[in-house]
Amino acid sequence: MATEKLYYSDPYLKEFSARVLAAIQLEDGRTGVVLDRTAFYPEGGGQPCDTGRLNDIPVLEVHSKNGEIVHVVAEAPAVEEVTGRLDWARRFDHMQQHSGEHVLSGAFLELFGAENVGFHLGPDAVYIDIALESLSAGQAAAVEARANAAVYATLPVSTHQVTDADLSRFPLRKLPTKGFGSLRLVEMPGIDCCPCGGTHVSNTGQIGGIKIRGWERKSGVTRVDFVCGGRALADHGLCLSAVRQLSTRLSVPPAEVPAAVEKQLAKLEGLHRELQATRQELGRLLAAEAYGGAPSTGDGAKVIVKAYEGQPPLELADFARQLLTLGPVIILLAAGLPEENKSQFLFACTPGLALNTGALLKSLLPLVGGKGGGSANWAQGGGPFSDKLAEALDKARREVLAASGTN
Ligand SMILES: [Zn+2]
Repeated sequence: MATEKLYYSDPYLKEFSARVLAAIQLEDGRTGVVLDRTAFYPEGGGQPCDTGRLNDIPVLEVHSKNGEIVHVVAEAPAVEEVTGRLDWARRFDHMQQHSGEHVLSGAFLELFGAENVGFHLGPDAVYIDIALESLSAGQAAAVEARANAAVYATLPVSTHQVTDADLSRFPLRKLPTKGFGSLRLVEMPGIDCCPCGGTHVSNTGQIGGIKIRGWERKSGVTRVDFVCGGRALADHGLCLSAVRQLSTRLSVPPAEVPAAVEKQLAKLEGLHRELQATRQELGRLLAAEAYGGAPSTGDGAKVIVKAYEGQPPLELADFARQLLTLGPVIILLAAGLPEENKSQFLFACTPGLALNTGALLKSLLPLVGGKGGGSANWAQGGGPFSDKLAEALDKARREVLAASGTN
């Protein structure tokens, strides 16, 4: 049975009374209610559905199926006569965004002859896809100015139920397929006229303003992200708060925030470069010092053994690479980070020495609950923090020295 669509006769109707015609079990097991009349807009044409209450029962979703409007409810009403109440803030937001979409689309067509080929209205984003290869900042500003001029002009928004024969009377943005029988047109004089089944504000002034937030190229079209009315105001509040925080933190007026951030980033890059150079120099000095004071094996390779508790001054790998440049060397390094419950190992040696660091590391890791491995000349591992790192390294050192015939 067809439901009377009160959202068309009065899109501003927030509360209405109706009779329950049927309560049905939906395919997904939920309950659906069909009324003789409703102000709840069902999802369709890019506009999400309304929500609200039937008496005290929450209306979760509303769908249109074969001319029947089904209200998905938490439970079926126990009485036949019900009062429907819309979540008006949600509906009015949809009306602002949707009506703004008409105006913006009309402006794109007027200025650039570009058609709207897609529309999305979601809780977090509203966008239209425009048949344009690209959009410049100047074009976006022009289209935004044209759209807002139509808002300031407070144009009446009207709907017309028309037949094929009536169509030539209207300056349509989108032509419907012929032979549709009867069709609903939405007209905003001088800016837009097209077939639409959604709900709209009664006057373009109520759109409250249109702001293009950005755009991107998307499979042959330009996707334009925009907000209208209440959303535009909320979006502005969010941006303003972010800029104010930055402005206070950087001690500059809001307009100078971008330049101040650039300056800070350049400074940071300089400091980063300086730090890298200092680290390299530190690595060179630490490696030379460690190499000079280290004992040698019988075949003349220095043996460097270091167990760090806490963050080492250099990454283990950087330190090992520095040491390898100084001469024949066997490197046994470990670092324990108790706060992060982590330990790291790095064993390496100059190629050609009679030692397999990968095998040595593998034999040792079970002592400290770690995992890892590597080649004969370079092996790395890690595991949870262990207070036996120094002990494990000492065992490895003794094995290395014994194997090379040194004590
Ligand atoms: Zn519409």
